[in-house]
Amino acid sequence: MKIAIEELAGCSGCTIAVLDLHEAILDVIEKADIVYSPVIMDVKTPPDDIDIAFVTGAVRNEENQERLKTIRKKAKTLVALGTCACYGGVSGLSMTHSREDIFTEVYKGVETTDENGVIPDEVPEFLYRVFAVGDMVKIDYYIPGCPPKEARLKEIILPLITGDKITLSRKSVCSECDRKMGEVTEWSLKRRHVGEPVPGECLLSQGYLCLGPVTFCGCGASCPKNNIPCHGCNGPSLDIIREPCRDIYNLMVRRIADLTDIPEKEIAKQFYDVSHTMYAFTMGSEVMEDKQISKIRELISEGGKR
Ligand code: SF4
Ligand code: SF4
Ligand code: SF4
Repeated sequence: MKIAIEELAGCSGCTIAVLDLHEAILDVIEKADIVYSPVIMDVKTPPDDIDIAFVTGAVRNEENQERLKTIRKKAKTLVALGTCACYGGVSGLSMTHSREDIFTEVYKGVETTDENGVIPDEVPEFLYRVFAVGDMVKIDYYIPGCPPKEARLKEIILPLITGDKITLSRKSVCSECDRKMGEVTEWSLKRRHVGEPVPGECLLSQGYLCLGPVTFCGCGASCPKNNIPCHGCNGPSLDIIREPCRDIYNLMVRRIADLTDIPEKEIAKQFYDVSHTMYAFTMGSEVMEDKQISKIRELISEGGKR
């Protein structure tokens, strides 16, 4: 059994998450050879006969596109590993800025660069948008997470290699959270840094924008368990993926309306920076953008960024 890990536009955190299997990595390498991974070995080109390839990162430029098509041709099974690969991830947010703005900021605008620096003209050409890998090639399995948590990877990678059945929960982050719904009175949206959440009480009921109800499980609700609202890094819940009429934004409005009896229009008025608070991990997904009720197209088009 030969396995490979390809890197596209991402931070390599998903590959490091595979190494974070700790002792379980020994079980993996007992049953399979890792024949290609630019992050963990000095190898430049994937071999031809790969059994399972994991692809991490989104498709932002022509090089990413070429690498994705090559690994698809060379692998019998292709797995999208991590939220960048599954839904575009944080790279998708780049679509709210023009290519010129991004290059100026990266090569001239940050503290560690010289404001007289040179913007290179030899880097691979940006595509007109960010793509999730499934927008471009057939994907056999999706493992979302930024990065996927060690416990979840353990449940998936070994059975994938041995051909055993994979059994996973298909619920939302709320199903893994032990916070209880508090009494909801005079609800208003709070910014994350405002106040201190009451321990043990649902963060959404306290006014914090917790995306637990609309986010796929698998992280053990690690943020709410540490007093931090979920910001959706595991990607959308299954009902959002399956149903064209369901979207992160509209389901959150509906959930808060049910909780508070405030009219949906009034709730929507309280939302701010919707790209970052609702779609921080999904803007690069054509599937998510193509939903009629999605706000993604509107957010990208603001200011003619595409
Ligand atoms: S999903 Fe998260 S951890 Fe994985 S490559 Fe993207 S940014 Fe990095
Ligand atoms: S909304 Fe957030 S805090 Fe409330 S139950 Fe769901 S995950 Fe927990
Ligand atoms: S609670 Fe939400 S943001 Fe935190 S790790 Fe889980 S899915 Fe990601």
